[in-house]
Amino acid sequence: MNKQKRILVTGAGGFIGHHLVKRLKRDGYWVRGADIKYPEYEDSAADEFEILDLRKYENCLLATRGGVDEVYNLAADMGGIGYITAFHADISRNNILINAQMLEASRQNGVSRFLFSSSACVYNQAKQKDPDVKPLREEDAYPADPEPGYGWEKLFAEELCHYYYKDYGMETRIVRFHNVYGPLGTYDGGKEKAPAAISRKVALAQVNDEIEVWGDGEQTRSFMYVDDCVEGLIRIMASDYRDALNLGTDELITINGLVDLVAKIAGKHIAKRHNLTGPQGVRGRNSDNTLLLKVLGWEPSIRLEQGLGITYPWIASQVVPQASPETVDVA
Ligand code: NAD
Repeated sequence: MNKQKRILVTGAGGFIGHHLVKRLKRDGYWVRGADIKYPEYEDSAADEFEILDLRKYENCLLATRGGVDEVYNLAADMGGIGYITAFHADISRNNILINAQMLEASRQNGVSRFLFSSSACVYNQAKQKDPDVKPLREEDAYPADPEPGYGWEKLFAEELCHYYYKDYGMETRIVRFHNVYGPLGTYDGGKEKAPAAISRKVALAQVNDEIEVWGDGEQTRSFMYVDDCVEGLIRIMASDYRDALNLGTDELITINGLVDLVAKIAGKHIAKRHNLTGPQGVRGRNSDNTLLLKVLGWEPSIRLEQGLGITYPWIASQVVPQASPETVDVA
């Protein structure tokens, strides 16, 4: 990448966007961040950080003004499974506005590359009914039967990216994240995802306490550490591949296994209380990285135990003030 490039990261006040801004600044680029809020846990490293509601077209024009070359569009109304199953109308409306307006403003302002952050929630739900799930390949998004609300919106915005390339020649990149975790991510308030929620519950538990697990805990997922996510984003943006690509690991684990792993890292014995009425999403989901490897010659490699070994102490230090995140490297 040319170091004189001007890069816009939307959602720069959020988890992945904040880490991406840090990395792009370390790599020497000029970076503008945009979000409706500032990052919660530390200041942004961006050259400019603008508070903008990107559902509004005029704000998208402001965000993309001044010769921005590349846009990483990470802004979205999103959260864990509890959140995305509770607010279908708001999430769909907010995200379709952000993505449609950001694409058009980027085109109007002559942005040369636009990356859209999609999700594994686009995959056909019928293909995710078994905990021992066959890893999902990119073509498994069709025939379309994605997660209601959030998944439908992501799938449509993927199509919109294709239309902008086809009709206007705008270079678009589409990344389907599988669950991302790491330090500086939301761990409470209702928008947190499983690794953060479990880390918080374990940190607050006394030894031998019981923590609540949604579902029977036998549902499976794979989880990607945020440094791998940022590396993948930069590589996909630089690639010449325009169709959707998985970005995740294929290290499958049950939610019960995730609790046991966090408890092991915390050095606590923790019992599980299964709440069978809690939202649990699809039964099994894993990433097939065949295409990612073919396109990039690279795939995420940070093992879950290693990533949680950095994430857990950070969350523990936030929720239990005397806990020290000595081993945390949040760079
Ligand atoms: P996040 O919630 O931490 O960050 C999203 C940011 O978008 C937030 O800071 C939020 O304030 C901002 N935002 C929301 N509405 C906005 C608006 N109207 N105007 C401006 N900013 C607005 O989430 P994240 O985990 O960093 O996710 C980044 C992207 O990756 C999102 O598009 C998300 O859908 C996608 N994704 C994330 C995961 C994951 O596991 N974290 C998985 C799949 C997809």
